[in-house]
Amino acid sequence: MRKNEESNGKEENEGSVADWVSGGPIGAKGAVLVFRSCVLASRTPSMESTTKTVGNNTGTTILLNKAKNMARRLVAEPHAFSVRPKNIMHDVMETFGNSNKYTGQAYVVRHVSDADVPETPEEQGHEPMEHKRDIDDVLNDLNKITLKRNLNIENTTANIKPPEEPPPSSKEKDEKKAKKNKSKNKRKTRASSPSLDSDDSEHMLVKEIDSIKVLESCHMPARMLKITYKLVNTETKLLHRLLQAHGLQEAPTDAKEFNLMWAGLHPKPDVLRSLTPYQRVNHFPRSYELTRKDKLFKNIEKMQYFRGLKHFDFIPTTFLMPGEYKELCTTHYRTKGPWIVKPAASSRGRGIYIVNTPEQIPKGENVVVAKYIDKPLLIGGHKCDLRLYVCVTSIDPLLIYLYEEGLVRFATVKYDKTNKNLWNPCMHLCNYSINKYHTDYIKCDDPNAGNIGHKWTLSALLRHLRKQGRNTAALMAAVEDLVVKSILSSAQTITAAARVFVPSLFNCFELFGYDILIDDMLKPWLLEINLSPSLACESPLDARVKSALLADTLTLVGLPAMPTSKNDASPQTNSLKMRIGACRRVHSAENACVRGKPGAQGGAAALGGLLTGEELRLVRAVRAQYSRRGGFVRIFPSQNSWQKYSQYLDPVSGVPVCSTSLNNNAPYTVVPHNYNLLVHSHVLPHFQHATVATSLTDTPQRLKRYEAVCIAGAAPAVQLCDSPAPQPPRDARRAKDLVKKQLSDGLTLTTGEVRRAFGLYLTHVLKRVSSPSNELAVQHAALVLRFLRRASSSLRMPYNVKGPPAKMCDKDRCAVIAKQLNDFLYMYYRETDLYTDSEDRAGCVANIHFAQFLHSASEADLEDVLLLLLRTQNYVATFLGDGRGGALCVDLPPARRAPHPPRHTLLRHLAALAHVNCRKYRPEVETSSRSEQEETSSADSAPPFVSSELVLKESLKEEKPLNLALKYARS
Ligand code: ADP
Repeated sequence: MRKNEESNGKEENEGSVADWVSGGPIGAKGAVLVFRSCVLASRTPSMESTTKTVGNNTGTTILLNKAKNMARRLVAEPHAFSVRPKNIMHDVMETFGNSNKYTGQAYVVRHVSDADVPETPEEQGHEPMEHKRDIDDVLNDLNKITLKRNLNIENTTANIKPPEEPPPSSKEKDEKKAKKNKSKNKRKTRASSPSLDSDDSEHMLVKEIDSIKVLESCHMPARMLKITYKLVNTETKLLHRLLQAHGLQEAPTDAKEFNLMWAGLHPKPDVLRSLTPYQRVNHFPRSYELTRKDKLFKNIEKMQYFRGLKHFDFIPTTFLMPGEYKELCTTHYRTKGPWIVKPAASSRGRGIYIVNTPEQIPKGENVVVAKYIDKPLLIGGHKCDLRLYVCVTSIDPLLIYLYEEGLVRFATVKYDKTNKNLWNPCMHLCNYSINKYHTDYIKCDDPNAGNIGHKWTLSALLRHLRKQGRNTAALMAAVEDLVVKSILSSAQTITAAARVFVPSLFNCFELFGYDILIDDMLKPWLLEINLSPSLACESPLDARVKSALLADTLTLVGLPAMPTSKNDASPQTNSLKMRIGACRRVHSAENACVRGKPGAQGGAAALGGLLTGEELRLVRAVRAQYSRRGGFVRIFPSQNSWQKYSQYLDPVSGVPVCSTSLNNNAPYTVVPHNYNLLVHSHVLPHFQHATVATSLTDTPQRLKRYEAVCIAGAAPAVQLCDSPAPQPPRDARRAKDLVKKQLSDGLTLTTGEVRRAFGLYLTHVLKRVSSPSNELAVQHAALVLRFLRRASSSLRMPYNVKGPPAKMCDKDRCAVIAKQLNDFLYMYYRETDLYTDSEDRAGCVANIHFAQFLHSASEADLEDVLLLLLRTQNYVATFLGDGRGGALCVDLPPARRAPHPPRHTLLRHLAALAHVNCRKYRPEVETSSRSEQEETSSADSAPPFVSSELVLKESLKEEKPLNLALKYARS
């Protein structure tokens, strides 16, 4: 009896384990792990999130919490202090650059098959009611947002008047419900049918998530098989959580035994060379050919030259400065501006500005100048751009998948078509990192809503466009074409590098982030391809899309479900030596063939011919991968990809080439096969007869899928961060008093300590400046701008402060200044990392005491301490400058340095910074009386104790609208 119970339990457990493996039983040769984002939901405590956020302070709130959290860790682990300070700043920085903190819910994207896609959005019965929203519904929603009452929402989406639609009658509702159930049932039956390798979009593995039991991570197959992962140069908490929840364990950074390596940068050649067939790495060698702005354009330009401009006309004309200045001027003479100027190596909209003429671009600077697409698609009057995710799972054969769901990012301020407001980044740039500082930025906390606020899902945008009668299938076909062609233009170099450095076909994969702008004619333009797209979950919507994306990527890539020991012991079946040794020159006579007769080429891979063992394995692997695609749409190979793209492949090797001539300056290429032809011919049997879609009626079914994505059920909430345990108030007070007393007794702070305190103080200021309801925001923004202008010279990295023009409204102005302060802080923190306080110094406050203080310090506490320090150090700002003679000081007449200053005095002090060697008000004259006349006659350093209003007006006066362009560019 007991035995029976045991065996039953075992069977149940085994059955569950099987849900997490695909391609065979656990431990079998073709078995791979299956990942699902629903594990995140079941692992963490629920945190109901019902309110919607208007405006955004999350970044800064996170920062404060994080800094405090780190400080708490210092207190808890004083023994580890020598390494901690650096971590603090890394972590704090990360909240600016790559924040992964998130307090929302994770949902699973459920995919529907094409057959279920109804013709009109109204017929999309599977779509839950709350998803049937549009910009109009969004506006209605906005009315419900309580915070809105406090805001002047002029200029935002909220200002658009929705055409009133009558609410559906109860009968209509019932009908819709019935349709919904019908389509749901239909889906269920389809989900169990076998998958076909065709254009049809049946998805495996994601079908019945409700029926799949989430196991404890210790019972997951990955844990049983001791599968490990390694994160290098990256801080992606979402990925870490997902892997842990699936039972994978983190390997030490220097470990050679790992199954998955997820790196922020390209791994070194040695790492790639030593990979076993079971290891996976998330980058291809030299994939920067695609992801560097300059390289990408050059590669596509080459294709335009060799293959015809009209086939590769999806990237704005770009010039690399300073080398191509003359060409820019010539083109400007023909086509006119505006031009968008971007630093060569930068991201998140940092340092981007728009000019009307090339003369406005500073000479000699290393920037990329692109034609500004000045007629973008506008939704509710706002510009938007797309972030799409593309996974390349193999470079030869080329396998490209586009994720069916993406994100749409909106600019906060309504677009002005007259090009008069080119200065306003919140109108022309759609980066979240820029727009989040605008008080009108609407962040939606409802993970079910794909079209509320300033971030939508791709599917919601497509449904919105379809409602307006636009041809969304043609749009997505153009997007797919753009993605494939951009990869084809760089694939030759990447393939050559992979051949040299990567031992096995499926060792490397890459998840690219495509930034795409759609113009008013619905033509997509490629702006940029990101090497490591942000996996930060800034909102529940991000969490929903990105967790599903990550889980689907890992399943698609396929981590072999094999015991680690077996993995290590298994020989490299396709070792580098063997691959290179077996190669022949591509263009040897023996291999030459006639284009258009694919059957005559490619060795044993010829159509209908017998396959070698290796070829057979490859075909099977490609098929198995396709069956695991989840939310990915395979866009190369596809039914019509041979017709469309075989002209860009070398007829013998099948490798993408830019020119048709045999000697096209390619790196030395040796290949014994034509894998692209092999895959097309054996995986897509009818590939030769497929037609290139010319109208909507013969559109491949898969194109309809993008707008049919919908969200499944309400999984419990996910909390991706540990909430900091509150420190007892008594301890906090004691810590503050102790530090203040020690400072008054003559002790000082180390450079690292004081910089950390100052950074934290500025973060409070940033929060206020970007806060919608704070009445001091506008006044303090003006002070911050003055401070930034003076303090930017103290950074090691050159940093230009571009003041907003005077004609900007207060909201926009605050947003621009907040963004600048954020950028300043980003660099400031990077430099602070250099000041590690490994041990206590004589004459300085003890590290541990200061950490305790930082953990609980309010803005007022930080201000007190920093003012105290300034006074004792003759108003020299030791927290700015690198101590190499470039120090800054507070240049105020002594009379204005009150012994008991009111709140926000420090900020006013900061607005009056000057270089030490050109200070006007010397410390020795602090007690002597300087004439008022002298004070007021000072031209540049306006006394900071004047009323805030006056400060603001003066700062506004500083901006000369006429010269703004030049000033912006040259500053
Ligand atoms: P970054 O890598 O710094 O984010 P991007 O190239 O992605 O730089 O551009 C940032 C923003 O600028 C985009 O969101 C887009 O809205 C806008 N943008 C970039 N290039 C163009 C262009 N050629 N035409 C119009 N808008 C552009």
